[in-house]
Amino acid sequence: MNTTAMEKTPSEVVLPACPFRQVLKGQKALVTGANSGIGKAVAIALGHAGADVVVNYVSDPESADQVTREAMRFGTRAYAHQADVAEEKQIEQMFERMFQELGTIDILVANAGIQKDAPLEEMTLDAWNRVLGVNLTGQFLCCRAAVREFKRRGVRPAISCAAGKIICMSSVHEVIPWAGHVNYAASKGGVMLMMKSIAQEVAPYRIRVNSIGPGAIRTPINASAWSTPEAHAELLKLIPSKRIGEPEDIGRTAVWLSSDDADYIQGTTLFVDGGMTLYPGFETGG
Ligand code: NAD
Repeated sequence: MNTTAMEKTPSEVVLPACPFRQVLKGQKALVTGANSGIGKAVAIALGHAGADVVVNYVSDPESADQVTREAMRFGTRAYAHQADVAEEKQIEQMFERMFQELGTIDILVANAGIQKDAPLEEMTLDAWNRVLGVNLTGQFLCCRAAVREFKRRGVRPAISCAAGKIICMSSVHEVIPWAGHVNYAASKGGVMLMMKSIAQEVAPYRIRVNSIGPGAIRTPINASAWSTPEAHAELLKLIPSKRIGEPEDIGRTAVWLSSDDADYIQGTTLFVDGGMTLYPGFETGG
């Protein structure tokens, strides 16, 4: 059978969305950057798994409303909230509104992220600062607000055996250096040690903190890496599983990682990357 790069090869076929058990029933979740790509799939998956969801977005309210509607399909609540994750005041206000509308927070998925790529010598300070501001400071501000509430409220055994769960959206580039993307790689390397340090600090309070490290996932952020047959073929050379990841791959992982089934997982990055971190250059023996 002939397949072009734009058709799905057998190894690219992804299972249909799981009929989730409502493992997150009664929990309140906030997902940043949730009107596109990975954040959208995570918000919908958490909603289908029984959580009420705040869909954070910074622009394009229509797409945020669409995500909200889909997240509520199985009877949970959701609303969209505009805030720039790099702005302290806006984050404080976003959490305040969540506590008023939903009562508390059980799950934070700090997902919002951007790239502003350039060779080092052409990278402006603005491009450096903005990527660090959104990808790293934005996660810090959201983690801090969530931990304050988790500690104040403590464990509610009928809801979860944890006082709260945080998932930082990292990247394979927390461990793989990335020429031409030093701001992005530095932000994700920073997320790794921020996540581990917070995890160590708050574990005694039964707060779980982990990261998901996606590989190449089919979203707008990396469209240039998969949207032409040539780019697609080059990208598959980096992926032992020989398919690009879908946002739903990350959605399913986020549901499990935030559920009590993952209760003993603390301070870990779960790479969801089709093997991208397995040194694919060595797959034929090196
Ligand atoms: P995307 O561009 O589809 O989504 C990024 C989201 O973040 C969008 O909703 C965007 O509006 C939002 N955002 C950007 N700046 C914001 C701000 N200041 N405040 C609030 N929201 C903001 O890209 P994606 O691939 O879905 O990326 C989501 C996360 O996954 C990012 O942290 C990214 O680094 C990470 N990631 C993606 C891939 C991939 O292959 N797609 C791989 C590794 C890691």
